[in-house]
Amino acid sequence: MISRASLPSLEPFLPFFLAGEWVEAGGRAIRDVIDPATEQVITTVADATPADVDHAVAAALEAHRSRVWSGMDPLERTRIMNRVAELIERDLEELAILETRDQGKPIERSRADTQSAANTFRHFAGATTRLGGTVVPIDGGSHHAYTVKEPVGPVAAILPWNFPVMTAAYKLGPALAAGCPVIVKPAEDTPLTALRLAALMAEAGIPTGVVSVITGDHVAGATLSTHPDIAKVTFTGSTEVGAHILHASVPGFKRVTLELGGKSPNIIFADADLDLATVTAMRATFGHSGQMCTAGSRILVQRSVLGEMTERLAEAAAKVPVGDGLAGGISVGPMVSEEQRQRVLGYIESGKSQGAQLVTGGGISGPGYYLEPTLFTGVTNDMVIAREEIFGPVAGIIPFDDEAEALRIANDTTFGLAAGVWTTDLARAHRMAQGISAGTVWVNTYNIFHPALSFGGVRDSGLGRDLGEAGLDGFLETKSIVMAV
Ligand code: NAD
Repeated sequence: MISRASLPSLEPFLPFFLAGEWVEAGGRAIRDVIDPATEQVITTVADATPADVDHAVAAALEAHRSRVWSGMDPLERTRIMNRVAELIERDLEELAILETRDQGKPIERSRADTQSAANTFRHFAGATTRLGGTVVPIDGGSHHAYTVKEPVGPVAAILPWNFPVMTAAYKLGPALAAGCPVIVKPAEDTPLTALRLAALMAEAGIPTGVVSVITGDHVAGATLSTHPDIAKVTFTGSTEVGAHILHASVPGFKRVTLELGGKSPNIIFADADLDLATVTAMRATFGHSGQMCTAGSRILVQRSVLGEMTERLAEAAAKVPVGDGLAGGISVGPMVSEEQRQRVLGYIESGKSQGAQLVTGGGISGPGYYLEPTLFTGVTNDMVIAREEIFGPVAGIIPFDDEAEALRIANDTTFGLAAGVWTTDLARAHRMAQGISAGTVWVNTYNIFHPALSFGGVRDSGLGRDLGEAGLDGFLETKSIVMAV
């Protein structure tokens, strides 16, 4: 149990890290940062102005042109990026507490996210010496043709509020390994850990201008992502804003990577290990208050075990520990904001009015933006709660008869981010993994991530990939060089 009374009060995060300097707030608009568990203002941040965005982009462009980072000995870049990982680990507990106070998530989750941020820097630190091209035999030897990989240029990284420190690292790690300068804009609800990360990157020796963190809302995000000197926008957030960013990328043909929403099926066959499937379904749907793009919020259950699984899932959902994320041992903390809680309550009402049966949850408590894990049965795939991303602790059980029907329902969605399949039949597991249209399929597990493993979606879930080789490649351009011999 971490007692709030024992924590130091936070100084205003008024100065923000811009192009290597901490800047005074001056006349900028000030934004309250609220602890979702107490509804209290814990500190403030300043909104970046269009001039700040220009300043950060100019510094990034200068860093790109001068090659202060991309032209550095690759092993020196490896050393600096490894140092960032070490500093994150040194300050892991402080960062994790800050993340929980800012975001509300359970402290164990914040620790794991922060460790994942360190792991991401460490993984991509090792990539700086493997940005190799190829020699291409284009004729009988009268030309020597080869390719080189070059950094795409200044990158805008626009982050969501659900995984602040982790998504910052998902963008910064590969972009820096590729040699790109990066301007990070965290979500307006959760700016704190990205600002701390900026300080750690400066301490590690990332040169001035290579990384800026600017705070603000959609106005700062739009100003940054449409800036003519930004070469690439890497965005994690809603499908709606992703579509804006894609449209806005046309002038100048900016490169874009979009990690967007999901409505993932978690498919439980009768032959599965039902104990494990039940426990994991709790984590997959209600973990992090369901505020996960990969939330397995459509629980597809084979009809022959529908009664048994409904009972098991309802019983388990009713026991999920809900409370202050700093208390420890909590699975579901508060929602990030009252606005988000109201949005989710609207979906619960929609489920009821469309004829789904509420088997557990639906209640709220406070102070703090708490919402009970909520489970519906009798859900059909055409209901709003089965089609739209809820982004809260709400899941619905949808029955199916056989593999073909499970696949049809799983793929009957505009999204395609992730899916879970539970079966002990190996051939069926492979057939399902092949048949599901999504960026990731987990079999007899859920929500496994690694910096070496690319992650992203198809259709409305996005474009391009974070992490892995595909993520790294997204920050590189291939240049072909042909020389007459
Ligand atoms: P959001 O789209 O509302 O905001 C994301 C970021 O975009 C914020 O920093 C915001 O200030 C900024 N922004 C808003 N309008 C903008 C504009 N017009 N131009 C540029 N930037 C703009 O998303 P959110 O509510 O913060 O996050 C929740 C969403 O993120 C969910 O839909 C979730 O599925 C998605 N998400 C996806 C993944 C993934 O990897 N696929 C991971 C986490 C979250």
